[in-house]
Amino acid sequence: MSLVSVSNVFELPIGKLPRCGPAIILRLKKIGIETVGDVLGHFPARYEDHSEVLDVSGLVAGEFGTVRVRVQQLRGRRAMYRRGMHVTEALVGDGTGSVRVVWFNQPFLTKTLSVGEEIFVSGKVAEDSFGLKFTSPIYERTDKNDTLHTARIVPIYGLTIGVGNKQFRSLVKSALDKVDAARPVHDWLPEEIRVENSLATYWHALEAIHFPENMHEVEESHLRFQFDQTFLHELNQRVVKRYTESVIGCALPLDVEIVKNFIAGLPFVLTDDQKKAVFAILKDMERSHPMNRLLQGDVGSGKTVVAAIAMRHAAAHGCTSILMAPTQLLAEQHSETLKKVLGPSEIPVVLITQSTKKTATLPKGPCVVVGTHALLYEKVVYPQLGLVVVDEQHRFGVAQRKAIKAKNKAGYTPHFLSMSATPIPRSLALAVYGSLAVSSIKHMPVGRKPIATRSVAEKDRGKAVDFVKQHVQRGEQVFAVAPLIDPSDFLSVESATSLYEQFSSDLFSGLRVGLVHGRMKPAERSKVMDAMRRGEIDILVATAVIEVGVDIPNATVMWIEGSERFGLAQLHQFRGRVGRGEKQSYCFLFSSSRGENANKRLKLMEEATDGFVLAEKDLEMRGGGQLWGTQQSGFAEIEFLREISLDIWDMARRAADKIMSDDSALAHHPVLALQLKQFEEELHRE
Ligand code: ADP
Ligand code: MG
Repeated sequence: MSLVSVSNVFELPIGKLPRCGPAIILRLKKIGIETVGDVLGHFPARYEDHSEVLDVSGLVAGEFGTVRVRVQQLRGRRAMYRRGMHVTEALVGDGTGSVRVVWFNQPFLTKTLSVGEEIFVSGKVAEDSFGLKFTSPIYERTDKNDTLHTARIVPIYGLTIGVGNKQFRSLVKSALDKVDAARPVHDWLPEEIRVENSLATYWHALEAIHFPENMHEVEESHLRFQFDQTFLHELNQRVVKRYTESVIGCALPLDVEIVKNFIAGLPFVLTDDQKKAVFAILKDMERSHPMNRLLQGDVGSGKTVVAAIAMRHAAAHGCTSILMAPTQLLAEQHSETLKKVLGPSEIPVVLITQSTKKTATLPKGPCVVVGTHALLYEKVVYPQLGLVVVDEQHRFGVAQRKAIKAKNKAGYTPHFLSMSATPIPRSLALAVYGSLAVSSIKHMPVGRKPIATRSVAEKDRGKAVDFVKQHVQRGEQVFAVAPLIDPSDFLSVESATSLYEQFSSDLFSGLRVGLVHGRMKPAERSKVMDAMRRGEIDILVATAVIEVGVDIPNATVMWIEGSERFGLAQLHQFRGRVGRGEKQSYCFLFSSSRGENANKRLKLMEEATDGFVLAEKDLEMRGGGQLWGTQQSGFAEIEFLREISLDIWDMARRAADKIMSDDSALAHHPVLALQLKQFEEELHRE
């Protein structure tokens, strides 16, 4: 969960915290934790309740127990057994009795602990012929105000190899102390909103999510942080909407003949949904107010062609259009598609890339410019910019809109069309798209072959391997997706690197196997993707990075490991990477857990081919928070939204309406205004 950053201390690198050395810095970086804010935003995966403190006489062999005891005896020695390992032995006790404790390989304990000192000892109790004992329990001094590891509800974090929970808990505590010393007096959330919605204060929530007094506090804290994000999101939508309604656009009256001829010249007939979308878009563009519309539809449903018609319409009025894609690769694909479609009308399509941006020259008349989202930050100014199409970026903020307007020498704000292949459940659409009108393409052009989807049982893995080999022999290509980059000791899930190992040296040795993941540099990544496109790779193992992207018509098999780890909508996105050519395509779903829910989801994937249906089901079935899976997704923003219950949306919506009706410019809420600005910047960082 991303936290609202309320102090500069959040930006401090973790190296500034006490006892945080280079080794742990490096390891935590692997899981995306680099700053104090990252540490605090890494919420516990679960909690263990060890708050009950027992008398020594109350300890039971075989059970977990925590006691508050004095050290009565303490000594260290080399053991005769276990290869001479160092053993620290202690006898500890309270008024009710004594119990033995052993620790292995911690010779320093005889120095850090001393006889007579009072400590908590917490761990599983065993019994041997000499009576009860603790083996390698956690201990903690009792002289501090608060314990972190014992005698409380203990947070358990999902971490990475080489970082222990005890170590991380201490880090969280130092981070909290550091922030506490520098914290502003007030909550950033206006007090009346906080109280009205019975929310915990920010500071209380931050502490309680890590070190709760009871489980109720954990719930309260989650609620508070979810509300924060949702509220800012809602507020942002309203600010964007107010902005777009206040600016002047450019009316482009419809020339029916031109559009009709253009459509008649296409090599196919538009689907009904495409026609409806075109009609709505052209109507929008006729108004003197800028269009603000979203076009959503599955991959391959024909959105680009619809955008091209709008571009043709703009060109008829002498207006240039630009299209921004999330990756270079997608920009190139769009440019190819548009060249084919717009070529006959003699509208030039100019692709601007990192390497051509210095030399690219724009033609005299209207044209279509294609590039990545970075186009926004290029200095080019267009004489008459009529339409901006943005692919796969849902939240387009005020700052971006102002930047676009500044690109237009003619002064007015261009029409705006956003395209998305990530369907949003209807119940969330208003919240997510708030300020946008929506057109949906629900049905694929005729003649598409649905992708045969099978959930594969472990015992049939061999069959899937043979199947893949056969298809590779025919010259077809395969994608294999895993949920993680590296193996994890915490989650028993297949990782891309281990899958790659297994594929290249064992299951598919002899075939050309490639690997691509989100930690690779973009240049390296596109080298691999290019090789895949050229057919020099048979099987490409990947993480969710391939979710957005590549059109490789020759790829016919999608192999998904740990499919229970992905949302239905995300699985559907993966599946959309194949089936882009003439050949029949396949999707194999593997999963390590076979709970009832997992089975139901896999069944749905086998049966439903419609992204909109899956998005609805996804929301219904997931309901509660999903622990992770968001970092690697290209749609982290949407992933987050899925976890928010409709009740919280309601609360946030009402709160945002109230603020906007009382103080729409946020003039009386400077702290809130600042947070909103940061929130917007955060959304568009990259
Ligand atoms: P999207 O952008 O939604 O992923 P595209 O616009 O790239 O989809 O379209 C995918 C492919 O389908 C393109 O090759 C396009 O020419 C083709 N196409 C689009 N609309 C139709 C249609 N109505 N009938 C047949 N083919 C179509
Ligand atoms: Mg597309």
